[in-house]
Amino acid sequence: GSADIECDMLVLGAGPGGYSAAFRAADLGLRTVLVERYATLGGVCLNVGCIPSKALLHVANVMDEAAHFADLGIDFGAPRIDIDKLRAHKEKVVGKLTGGLSGMVKARKVEVVRGLGSFLDPNHLAVELTQGNGQDKSGEKKVIRFRQCIIAAGSQAVKLPFMPVDPRVVDSTGALGLKAVPKRMLVVGGGIIGLEMATVYSTLGARIDVVEMMDGLMQGADRDLVKVWEKKNAHRFDKVMLKTKTVAAEAKEDGIWVKFEAMEGGSAPAEAQCYDLVLVAVGRSPNGNKISADKAGVVVTDRGFIPVDNQMRTNVPHIFAIGDIVGQPMLAHKAVHEAHVAAEVAAGQKSSFDALQIPSVAYTDPEVAWAGLTEDQAKAKGIKYEKAVFPWAASGRAIANGRDEGFTKLLFDAETHRIIGGAIVGTHAGDLIGEVCLAVEMGADAVDIGKTIHPHPTLGESIGMAAEVAHGSCTDLP
Ligand code: FAD
Repeated sequence: GSADIECDMLVLGAGPGGYSAAFRAADLGLRTVLVERYATLGGVCLNVGCIPSKALLHVANVMDEAAHFADLGIDFGAPRIDIDKLRAHKEKVVGKLTGGLSGMVKARKVEVVRGLGSFLDPNHLAVELTQGNGQDKSGEKKVIRFRQCIIAAGSQAVKLPFMPVDPRVVDSTGALGLKAVPKRMLVVGGGIIGLEMATVYSTLGARIDVVEMMDGLMQGADRDLVKVWEKKNAHRFDKVMLKTKTVAAEAKEDGIWVKFEAMEGGSAPAEAQCYDLVLVAVGRSPNGNKISADKAGVVVTDRGFIPVDNQMRTNVPHIFAIGDIVGQPMLAHKAVHEAHVAAEVAAGQKSSFDALQIPSVAYTDPEVAWAGLTEDQAKAKGIKYEKAVFPWAASGRAIANGRDEGFTKLLFDAETHRIIGGAIVGTHAGDLIGEVCLAVEMGADAVDIGKTIHPHPTLGESIGMAAEVAHGSCTDLP
């Protein structure tokens, strides 16, 4: 058929997966078109995910630290919160990054088409052009003919069907909108996103309840790490309801009244509870069923995921898929890595996705970070491993910082002594875990890390110290 635009490479969706794929494809000489419905590039991560949440978490962190400074002889007094200014700050942070992306797109001569894309056949995509914030359709349509395509259409928050449509019931996007600080807030779902937002809102003054169906918060992390976080954060929560289902909710004038049901072993209040704000953070579902993928012959699962091989190819060889839409873990750094593989393969290179580890970080306070295998995963796989733990109570820097509650843990294969994973709970754990990622990828063993001179006194030193513990010769630097 006829087309308005022709290209070598069409990328659908401009999140971290999509823009990274478009940049790499353009760098490799492919004439690239990037289709995005929203006014700004960057997807969930830059606009309503990783970045705005971290802008707010940074502020919360400084507030929490400052609050304890009176004990050290420096009293800042009670904070005065200007929520409009704080929101403006967060928006400025996001704007800097999305603006930077537009510049990079131009520099690489990637053509951006603003609109909602859906496939017509294996080589054509129709785009309903959008305006304003990206929701308003202009009525205009463009057809793009492509040789190859990378689908990077991402995911969206899962909704609970019984939640009333009400401004006091929000998903993570609404919570990041930061309209006001509620007195009583319910966080439905005790995963990373819910707990990060709980950290922000409780520091700003909200009292928080958390409800979670599983038997513990922050699923995926080993329990020894979570315990440290729980101890330090107990003051934030009125109730943490584990093994509890949220079953009904009603919007009334005085608040959102929510009903719970304890599962086996759980305990939940029998009466409905009243909240000024309810954040639903029960997971994200992929957008695979919203792009007419079937017209291109691309297989999509019932849940909306697009299956791919280790070169990120779908069942249709010239159509690739990457990021949240291909599966867990739904993380920006995984999307970016997959993007590079897909673009390189499309350009004729022999790349494949063969990462040995994908790190996870909860940017709570303290942070919880893990990479490679967790202990739970190693046990489930029947791997014989050795564990080395360095408690931050023995770290000079952590003590000097007044934050020695954390620890650093390394897991080694019992026979080869190669590092198979590691985890850190403590301030800046997310920044520190990179060394563990590198060690896993490079097949480093305990001696490699233990004999590497780390700068003293730093938190990063704790990784070298843990390796020395594994090696059996403890260092004498405190
Ligand atoms: P997305 O970022 O979802 O981008 C997809 C894009 O495609 C969107 O811009 C969408 O508008 C567009 N699109 C979809 N369908 C169409 C269509 N039909 N036509 C045109 N455009 C379309 N990850 C981390 O690694 N670290 C974090 O700290 C972190 N924090 C997070 C905090 C929150 C609150 C949330 C919600 C997520 C967070 N994540 C974090 C996850 C991270 O945001 C995602 O993993 C990442 O954005 C996925 O990238 P993606 O490119 O696959 O998709």
